[in-house]
Amino acid sequence: MITKLVILDRDGTINHDSDEYVKSAQEWTPMPGALEAIARLNHAGWHVVVASNQSGLGRGLFDVAALNAMHAKMHKMLGAVGGRVDAVFFCPHSPDENCSCRKPASGLFEQIGERYGMDLKGVPAVGDHLRDLQAATAVGCEPHLVMTGKGAQYKGQSNLPQDFPANTQAHVDLSAFVDWLLLKTQAAAKSSAKATQTSHNAGSSA
Ligand SMILES: [Mg+2]
Ligand SMILES: [Zn+2]
Repeated sequence: MITKLVILDRDGTINHDSDEYVKSAQEWTPMPGALEAIARLNHAGWHVVVASNQSGLGRGLFDVAALNAMHAKMHKMLGAVGGRVDAVFFCPHSPDENCSCRKPASGLFEQIGERYGMDLKGVPAVGDHLRDLQAATAVGCEPHLVMTGKGAQYKGQSNLPQDFPANTQAHVDLSAFVDWLLLKTQAAAKSSAKATQTSHNAGSSA
């Protein structure tokens, strides 16, 4: 069983998004520093999975073979920088299919929880769109907004719109989110080491 899991959106979070949809491996291009950021997570012991709306499938803009080719490219490019995504969970439906997996619905997150056999409460989830964070918080994940892709519109704003989950944390990009998470977990590890030492000292002086 794993304990350190991060859930990432794909388009606009890892790779450049497009209003015309990312329809082929050729059109799938990572944003600067994003793959290296995933590798840094992995090296610190984090498992990374992707949860992605891919309505382009339901809209007939590309097929599953094309989607697989995009992800083969992602895995290969990640491997080249020492990174790894465990799995990609995607919703293939168009909005009018009213499925339970298209974010902001929480179906993809529920699938992830089932696959890993874990409660997703407190698991960091990162996305560039409000609906990513709504889906994440529906299962108790910790919501993180990246200000890339659709999230670029919030850059420089002191407050996010009201409809964002209250505990949303915003980061310039995926790399900045990883900086934040690694710093936080290092600080937590240090303070728990200190607490162990303090109680040990207290015990030995008694
Ligand atoms: Mg996105
Ligand atoms: Zn769906």
